[in-house]
Amino acid sequence: NARSKDSGLYYFDLQEGAKHSRRLSVTHRLEQAIEAEELSLFYQPKLNLLANHATGCESLARWFSDDEVISPGEFIPLAEQSGLILPLGSWILQTACAQALAFQQQGISMKMAVNISARQFTQPGFSQQVQDVLDAKGLAPQSLELEITESMIMENEAFGIKVLHQLKEIGVSLAIDDFGTGYSSLAYLKQFPVNKLKIDQSFVRRMHQDSVDQAIVLSLCQLSRNLRMEVVAEGVEELEQLDLLRTYQCDEIQGYWYSKPLSSADFSDFMLSRQQA
Ligand code: C2E
Ligand code: CA
Ligand code: CA
Ligand code: CA
Repeated sequence: NARSKDSGLYYFDLQEGAKHSRRLSVTHRLEQAIEAEELSLFYQPKLNLLANHATGCESLARWFSDDEVISPGEFIPLAEQSGLILPLGSWILQTACAQALAFQQQGISMKMAVNISARQFTQPGFSQQVQDVLDAKGLAPQSLELEITESMIMENEAFGIKVLHQLKEIGVSLAIDDFGTGYSSLAYLKQFPVNKLKIDQSFVRRMHQDSVDQAIVLSLCQLSRNLRMEVVAEGVEELEQLDLLRTYQCDEIQGYWYSKPLSSADFSDFMLSRQQA
């Protein structure tokens, strides 16, 4: 089309301008949504392959704004850039811990995993905040798992490792999220007091069709075992992926094959119907 040919720059500016005002508007609405407690958490079951039942879930933030659903892939980065992640992250941690206790009181034995962002992890007093939330909600520390990324630790590794040790002392589990996409420095990895590695979905997605991805997933499973860590594969959508992961002795899987993220009511139905079966 003629306009885009002779005025490509004009189009580019328009597009950038639109993206910028979208970011501003979403950030502004997010601030109001946090205050109005308009966000919610969904819970995605994780299947333990040896036990053959769900042993826990990952909490995932959801924002149903009046006219649209805004994905965490969009609003979490904006919350990080604007600093809103601190009040939002604190609300997420409190809500997930309260919900974990509520699930347990319904007779569902489970561990709750919560995503932690870089700004939260590096905030002074983060481990104290975790301790305070556990105390306030009355949740056992073993029922909470924090998902963090390698880059968050490596930004300042001495400080990061210190925070990991403080969290370990509290008794919560620690999982490295999106494993394989970050620094992956094996020398550092052995110094991290973490319990679990979560293999990034980018390796899992095509592992049943791509021999390189398959080799990567297999070696990450072996690496975890050698480091005495548990290993989880995320983004499992196909039975072929699950079958391969079983032969690799992967501990847990998470993905649409087993279940999508569920509302709290649907998650408890899911767990209760399976525990009775
Ligand atoms: P993540 O932590 O890597 O979470 C996994 C994402 O994969 C989730 O997307 C989940 O819904 C999606 N997923 C699960 N199974 C499958 C599958 O089989 N196939 C595919 N294609 N996707 C699957 P979601 O919920 O959109 O979250 C995106 C990202 O936003 C998360 O990636 C995490 O980085 C961030 N996020 C979500 N909730 C929170 C939160 O409460 N706090 C923080 N700090 N970040 C969050
Ligand atoms: Ca995660
Ligand atoms: Ca992940
Ligand atoms: Ca991710």
